[in-house]
Amino acid sequence: MKKYAHVDDDDEVDDEAAAFDVLDSEAASHRKHTGGPGPDMPEAEQQQGGQQQQQHSLTSFDELDEELERVPLAADRKPWLCKGVQHRVVVAVLTAVLLVIVVVASWAAMANNVALAQRLGELTAGTPSPTPATQQQQPIVVLVSIDGFRADYLARGLTPNLSRMAAGGARAPAMQPVFPSATFPNHYALVTGLYAETHGIVANTFYDPVFNATFRYTLPADATDARWWAGEPIWNTVVKAGKRAYCAFWPGSEAAVQGIHPSVYLSYVPLAAELSNTKRMQLVLEWLGEDVATRPSLVTAYMSSVDSAGHSYGTEGPQIDLAIQQADAAIGVLLDGIAALSVPINVVVVSDHGMTDLSPQRVVFLGKAQAASLLPANK
Ligand SMILES: [Zn+2]
Repeated sequence: MKKYAHVDDDDEVDDEAAAFDVLDSEAASHRKHTGGPGPDMPEAEQQQGGQQQQQHSLTSFDELDEELERVPLAADRKPWLCKGVQHRVVVAVLTAVLLVIVVVASWAAMANNVALAQRLGELTAGTPSPTPATQQQQPIVVLVSIDGFRADYLARGLTPNLSRMAAGGARAPAMQPVFPSATFPNHYALVTGLYAETHGIVANTFYDPVFNATFRYTLPADATDARWWAGEPIWNTVVKAGKRAYCAFWPGSEAAVQGIHPSVYLSYVPLAAELSNTKRMQLVLEWLGEDVATRPSLVTAYMSSVDSAGHSYGTEGPQIDLAIQQADAAIGVLLDGIAALSVPINVVVVSDHGMTDLSPQRVVFLGKAQAASLLPANK
């Protein structure tokens, strides 16, 4: 626990995130659930944990997303969707518009500087030196998703850590999500390179006439049922290459796609509720700090709190701004932790879709529109 003493755990904002506010006993609880290596575990146990595939018991992705799914399209429906948020604007994902953040930054870890200094030393001395440990492994890729982080959130002056990534690496102005611009189709597109109609996750919730069954992204049974998940997620590619892939949440990571699990993965239910954004980044850092024999080549991590705050409170206001700041702070923990490791690491931060506010003033009543001969059916 003392290892975490410098980290502010009060970094969450909404009801869902409040559940992430983990007490001091969290670390032990987390290790109990994960069975994974932790700072206080005996070394032998850590090694065992690092070498085995680890499945951890299963919460729901974005309960508010599901609420959005359930709302009928009837025109007389009150347009605000989220519980306990009376008279607030409705927020929904925006399709086919460039509203998604993509920050891709090659983070120059301190290790790279060390390696460079060593290479320079070789040149100066004119004699070869033993290969540094930092050069014995290909750089690790850490892929982090901040759900529902709209591209222009980066312009609010609230994200110093994402900004320093962009300044030290590269940034895309935005990303166009695949259709539909929902969490599951896009996250799985990101790791398979496939559109939704090909990778199979065509919505957060959908009916499949062949299976005569409905996929529900909130159901742990569907998260782990490989029949829904097609294509080849990147962690499978890594495992097939004889390397290790660790997933601190990602849609699809709990299913044995192609019969293959990530080397380590977490069950969203119940662990997401137990792991704040900061805790997730600390877990990633633990993984990155593993011995070179078990150290992963790919790590994925996922944060839902910005999406949740947007759905609950809209895309403007103190709540979403706080969520943005807290997600950025978690990224800061990750970056600072990586800088302290003697491991070459590339960090890629993405989002899955944007978000926009709706309002009662912009509701279109189809019946009235038809009566006004605005629809072909009335002509
Ligand atoms: Zn999402």
